[in-house]
Amino acid sequence: MDKAYQFQTAQTKWYELWEKTGVFEGCPSSKKKPFSMSLPPPNITGNLHMGHALCYTLPDVIARSKRAQGFDVCWVPGVDHAGIATQIIVERQLKEEGTDRHQLGREAFLKRIWDWKDKNQNDIENQLRRLGVSVDWSRKRFTMDDSLNASVRKVFVEAFQQGRIYRGPRMIQWDPISQTALSDLEVKHSERQGKLWYLRYPIEGSSESIVVATTRPETMLGDTAVAVHPEDERYQSLVGRQIRQPLTGRLIPIVADAFVDPAFGTGCVKVTPAHDPNDHAAGLRLHLDSIMVIGFDAKMTEAAGPYQGLDRFACRKKIIEDLDEAGCLVKIEDHTSQVAISERSGAVLEPLVSEQWFMKMNEGAQKALEVVRQGKIKFTPNHHVAVWEHWLTNIQDWCISRQLVWGHRIPAWYCQDCGHINVALEVPTACSQCSSRKLIQDPDTLDTWFSSALWPFSILGWPETTSDLKHYYPNDVMCTSYDIIFFWVARMVMSGLTWTGDIPFKEVYFNSLVRDQSGQKMSKSKGNVIDPLEVMDEYGTDALRFTLISMSAPGTDIALSKSKLEASRNFCTKLWNAARFVHMNVDQSIILSSPLVLGEADHWMASRLQEVSIKVSEALAHYRFHDAADQLYHLIYDDFCGTYIELVKVQLLQGSNGQKAVILNYLDIILRLLHPMVPFLTEEIHACVIKDRLASEEPKLLAQRSWPSEHPLLQGVYPTSRVPDFQEILSTLLRLKAEHGIDPGKRVKAYATVALVKDFEEPIKSLGKLESITFQNQIEPSNECAIAVVGHGKIAIEIGQASSLKNPALLIKEHDKLGKEIEVLSGRLGNENFVAKAPAEALAKARQDLKDKKSRLEQIKDLLRP
Ligand SMILES: [Zn+2]
Repeated sequence: MDKAYQFQTAQTKWYELWEKTGVFEGCPSSKKKPFSMSLPPPNITGNLHMGHALCYTLPDVIARSKRAQGFDVCWVPGVDHAGIATQIIVERQLKEEGTDRHQLGREAFLKRIWDWKDKNQNDIENQLRRLGVSVDWSRKRFTMDDSLNASVRKVFVEAFQQGRIYRGPRMIQWDPISQTALSDLEVKHSERQGKLWYLRYPIEGSSESIVVATTRPETMLGDTAVAVHPEDERYQSLVGRQIRQPLTGRLIPIVADAFVDPAFGTGCVKVTPAHDPNDHAAGLRLHLDSIMVIGFDAKMTEAAGPYQGLDRFACRKKIIEDLDEAGCLVKIEDHTSQVAISERSGAVLEPLVSEQWFMKMNEGAQKALEVVRQGKIKFTPNHHVAVWEHWLTNIQDWCISRQLVWGHRIPAWYCQDCGHINVALEVPTACSQCSSRKLIQDPDTLDTWFSSALWPFSILGWPETTSDLKHYYPNDVMCTSYDIIFFWVARMVMSGLTWTGDIPFKEVYFNSLVRDQSGQKMSKSKGNVIDPLEVMDEYGTDALRFTLISMSAPGTDIALSKSKLEASRNFCTKLWNAARFVHMNVDQSIILSSPLVLGEADHWMASRLQEVSIKVSEALAHYRFHDAADQLYHLIYDDFCGTYIELVKVQLLQGSNGQKAVILNYLDIILRLLHPMVPFLTEEIHACVIKDRLASEEPKLLAQRSWPSEHPLLQGVYPTSRVPDFQEILSTLLRLKAEHGIDPGKRVKAYATVALVKDFEEPIKSLGKLESITFQNQIEPSNECAIAVVGHGKIAIEIGQASSLKNPALLIKEHDKLGKEIEVLSGRLGNENFVAKAPAEALAKARQDLKDKKSRLEQIKDLLRP
């Protein structure tokens, strides 16, 4: 066994072996109970980021522990084609080469993207392997595989036939850079400092005028009305009259509609149905014309007259100049407004009316609300239910078409003779209406999320009734980030219910977001991104995983820092060193089933293992990952390595075989409990120390071994032990040294009135770094000693010349902290309501806590007294 854990070689070696052995493969024909999950498919465009690392590590802990608990685990991985993101990347490459997708042509462009995809898919898959995720690679999927294409097409065609999918002109958010429509969810709203321009419009047939305020003067070329609020007394007499628009000279009516906010600007607004969603809706209500003055290229159209061909922002400048010259510009104010931006390309979006495909969402949303209300799908944390309710009760139809090449092409063919839309599973040879052969396929593709919405069942072979589908659907749990609850989770639930008639999964665990150490969102522009690939190189995958798991309290975001990663690496090192010590001191002839001889420390360790194994199982069953990690951390770091090994060192070195077999079994139990979180290190230790001492029928890979809860050592009833008192004495000794400014390594004399020190003399001396520890019946206050109260007695250390307190700052800090805590606790215990409602156990604990804190406060006061 190496002196240090070589994580790089261990990681590659074990993952290859696990994969080769088929440890992660689901087996529908087995007698085991199935447990299934789908991996949220990463985009082929991406490298693994910290969000992925968390989002894949947590379900891996579930998968590995379920496997150990005897389930037939099937966790299907895959990658997403990521329509718009991928196309943007490859288009950028083309631009650098001085060409573009139009010059290249649709087919050549697609080939180019496929090549790029093949290369990148390997990268992201290998990054998943490095992270240790125990997915079933034999079942891996890509959203544009033939079988997934078939399910996408079936859903589209059937939904069209049922009237759930329709095509029509709608106002959508148009991205002029990527040249595609976007769904509302892909739109980011960004606050921008802009202007509010006040324009004077003359009223026809009079010398009066009206002033309108606008943030987008260039759209005035497409105005078809000016609107006021029906109850705004200032303008009542003007409704029904007309204004002559400056610059265009067109006559447009003054109308009344409740959508106008009388408090905004002058209370008069211009109405441009072609370029604003509210105006569009008003235009439909009031039967106004819609004049499109900005085109899909974000340039002014022919309808803009002399401004035709100008970019929309250049046009804005020109319009203002011209209005000013015509004496129609009244004033300009600074104004902050929300500007709609494309999440992907960063373009300022233009609301435009265009022919798009839509999917009706109302019916699906109702079903999705019901299954969550009825508890058929459970959310952890539960507070996401409120967000779910809100969004699904206010849902809009989903714009599913994208003007992109990369993706699932819409299976609709337009007849050039009769205009009929032929929607079909297979390429039609003739129009179903007029038999014409002049058919042209819709050039557009489907929103990437359309195929993602089918993921949990399309990857299992749906619409075919495969044995995988029968066996593994619905999935047991979906682990994902809460920021894609609508993009993805809601749509999966709706499509699952609609197309399979069943929920796609029984539970959803929403993991937190990973932020930097000060709680800021990680972003390239802030320079605070922690790259999981670099972290895995520097600290090892196990340290990364353990850090993320131990910080995953449901509902709170993770503030990741280097110091946390270092602490996890130290934890791994500590276990490695302890295992190495066991390995070097337990000869090969001793095996796990050798006769056991248990002493006091062994009884204590066994009861700790019992306790922790139950708590870890429970915590994992309720997705309290941080709790499970915390339990294991203290068990391993403090109790097993810090205390137990020290206590049994002497026996071990003296060669008690029964004792050696005990420690071997404890290490084995620890490895099995920790393996789901820290898979590589535990497998490596298992191979070095445990594997050759297993019974012949046991699997030789830790990844295949069972959860240890049935282990005979975890079934016993053990006598109460003095080890916790020993631990308290030790920590008190160390604290006394710190309080008095004594170097923790300096060997001083100590005294105690606790008889226990007689039996534990050697380990106390060695761990407390003492010259000696002497039992006495009494300890009197003196200037030479620092005294502290423990359990049923006192302990003291000689501080000699350092008779005055060297480190009062520590004590003062603790003093103040305790004061506040006592106040809070006393308040709570003085509250009748709390006392009446709190469980007896919690109440007793709170009272004990208060007592302990008060007595500690008294001690500190004594110490601080001059
Ligand atoms: Zn036709």
